[in-house]
Amino acid sequence: MLEQRVVFLDLETTGAAAGFDRVTEIGIVEVNGGKLASEWGTLVNPETRIPPAIETLTGITNAMVRDAPTFSDLAQDLMERLAGRLLVAHNARFDYGFLKNEFKRAGLRYASKVLCTVKLSRRLYPEHHRHNLDSLIERHGLICEDRHRALGDARVLWQFVQTLSREKTRAEIDAAVEALLRTPSLPAGLAEGVLDDIPETPGVYLFYGENDIPLYVGKSVNLRSRVLAHFSGDHAVHKDMRISRQITRVEWIETVGELGALMREARLVKQLQPVHNRWLRRSNDLCAWRFDPAGDAAKPLLVYARDEDFGDLQHLYGLFRAKREAVNTLRAIAEEQGLCPIVLGLESGKGPCFAHQLKKCRGACVGKENTLTHSARLLAALHKLRVRAWPFRGRVGIRETDSWSGKSELHVLDRWCYLGTVRSDWELFDAGELGSEKLFDLDTYKILTRYFERHGGRLQVVELDGTGGAAGRH
Ligand SMILES: [Zn+2]
Repeated sequence: MLEQRVVFLDLETTGAAAGFDRVTEIGIVEVNGGKLASEWGTLVNPETRIPPAIETLTGITNAMVRDAPTFSDLAQDLMERLAGRLLVAHNARFDYGFLKNEFKRAGLRYASKVLCTVKLSRRLYPEHHRHNLDSLIERHGLICEDRHRALGDARVLWQFVQTLSREKTRAEIDAAVEALLRTPSLPAGLAEGVLDDIPETPGVYLFYGENDIPLYVGKSVNLRSRVLAHFSGDHAVHKDMRISRQITRVEWIETVGELGALMREARLVKQLQPVHNRWLRRSNDLCAWRFDPAGDAAKPLLVYARDEDFGDLQHLYGLFRAKREAVNTLRAIAEEQGLCPIVLGLESGKGPCFAHQLKKCRGACVGKENTLTHSARLLAALHKLRVRAWPFRGRVGIRETDSWSGKSELHVLDRWCYLGTVRSDWELFDAGELGSEKLFDLDTYKILTRYFERHGGRLQVVELDGTGGAAGRH
């Protein structure tokens, strides 16, 4: 890393939003081949007010920057200092985002390889939880004479990197740097910079190709890293290689948490039927065995989700994507348990069945085993396949909250069907319209049963009454 031409950089700004806030100070330390080449810093007139809280934090006041040059004044000179150098910064995405935006305002385009010292520290010192600048200063005994000023903080980063070479081996440092610099190669069809705005939040992302054909829908608890992973360049996954060749546009939907992302993904895949998502497509032949031991019939009945409301039915066992899968499963159970294929309806004719001649059926077909025992044994074998009953009275909302931001979403569900997501009580008031596309579906059922099992007593449930209307609606 230090054999390259490197620039350690820190910016002070008027706030945290790169698209909106402005730079108030720049500090850079230039290092060539591991040797300090020069230091440079300047205040910058942000052409806007610095909020009082930021004045207090950085010590940079409105009065101090009033007569400083603007970023535009400095842009050309700064670009020359940065060009061709590896940019090293703490929380580098923050500084890099600000730099790109400020250069853009000045009519220049800046792009660089970037190394983040937070990530570097996390990689080399995974035993520590905190990697903010104060933690690094304390942990490594770094000296900072001008904390929260740009040049002061940039100097600390340079010190930190020098410390690394004393505490870690060359091979360890090289491996960490290399892993962090493995920048994703942008697919040819995507415009420059379109991936820059993807947030590091949970959500769903959509890839589109020529003529806006949906290529792929995916979900992640970290949209940014998941999307970039598709284009990481090693293309171990053949699908990713094809997506990279075809993609022309990316869209994403932020969600509060994982459940919202999972259910939106399942729904979008079914609505859009993207080229590379075959595995999640809606099966029109979704079916289950219905078997009520209290009923008259000794044989289970195959029922289809397209005909019956699976969320309402009792005594269901499955689920199967097609009749063939249902029949094969029942056949395997029969063989394993010595049940009779004729009694189960898997074969026609009268007993003794062929399996009984092979001593595999215990003889329910010829009266050797009574029907009740046969049914009881079938029920026991089916138990692990039972379709769970909807555990609530009717329609509910499951609240998902992000503890960090306090944002929350309410996912409206009815008998294993996902009706939609609302973000406020006012939206919920109109939730009557949410039920229009109520359809039992295997993926949603699996997502919800897994989620309920995992979260059990911690589920935040809002009962929305059992009549199909939102609470308070008459
Ligand atoms: Zn038999």
